[in-house]
Amino acid sequence: MNPVALITGASRGIGRGIALELAKLNYDLVINYASNVSAARETAADCVSAARAAGKSIRVEICQADIGSGAERRKLIEFTKGEFARLDLLVNNAGVAPEVRADILEASEESFDRLIRINVKGPYFLTQLAARWMIEQHKLGGRPRKIVTISSVSAYTASVNRGDYCIAKAALSMLTPLYAARLAQHGISVYEIRPGLIRTDMTGPVRAKYDKLIDEGLTPIKRWGKPEDVGKAVAAIAQNLLPFSTGEVINVDGGFHLRTL
Ligand code: NAP
Repeated sequence: MNPVALITGASRGIGRGIALELAKLNYDLVINYASNVSAARETAADCVSAARAAGKSIRVEICQADIGSGAERRKLIEFTKGEFARLDLLVNNAGVAPEVRADILEASEESFDRLIRINVKGPYFLTQLAARWMIEQHKLGGRPRKIVTISSVSAYTASVNRGDYCIAKAALSMLTPLYAARLAQHGISVYEIRPGLIRTDMTGPVRAKYDKLIDEGLTPIKRWGKPEDVGKAVAAIAQNLLPFSTGEVINVDGGFHLRTL
């Protein structure tokens, strides 16, 4: 029986890159999305093709759910139970940028509440639901289970025109040590992946600005990150290549986090 991964926000961008890498590893997949059903269907079909090209056979299902809603988080877990009856890997990837990049002296409470709801409360309580189910499965044995959360360099980098996003990602970074400490006794390892500048729809509006910064040497590895760069880090975890590590932060940022002199 194939292992099963649930990836939030996997219709496009980084989540799609993660899904494609897991497909090659023979994971059956639940592709969660917010509203773009055609992108979700395309990703699902591409995952089946990627698996087939790697000589594997997988099943991929798509599930619409807003991870910022408690009822929809429950729906997503129930859907996964109904379709696959097991969960080996949860990837908390879905997240949103502020609709308007506003200076912190001007930014609205509405935008702050939206980012906390989707980027923090969503993954925190989805992890709670997934963890309870994984604990039940652990009692029956089977392979080690994992939870991976996609945060951002914004967890520790001040961008004064999107303070709400930075605060949400900083808060999200506490999810991993908390659940890693709580779940190790149940055979569940928990990781944070911290991407830098990744070329997706989210960074579309700031592409020219970041092109220039990369060109000027913002990152030691002088290129945009690709969704597959994050996908490969998740794939390493999914293959159990870090068996004595939990609570770990993996930077996938071209070296952005390095201080140099
Ligand atoms: P993206 O291109 O905007 O894609 C966002 C994905 O999340 C889409 O699949 C979207 O679904 C889904 N989504 C949005 N809101 C959702 C919700 N409330 N419930 C469920 N799914 C939702 O974003 P991305 O660049 O791939 O970013 C993915 C994650 O990486 C985010 O957490 C982001 O903060 C983080 N990140 C991104 C970068 C970067 O440079 N791009 C850097 C660091 C961290 P639909 O297709 O249905 O809209």
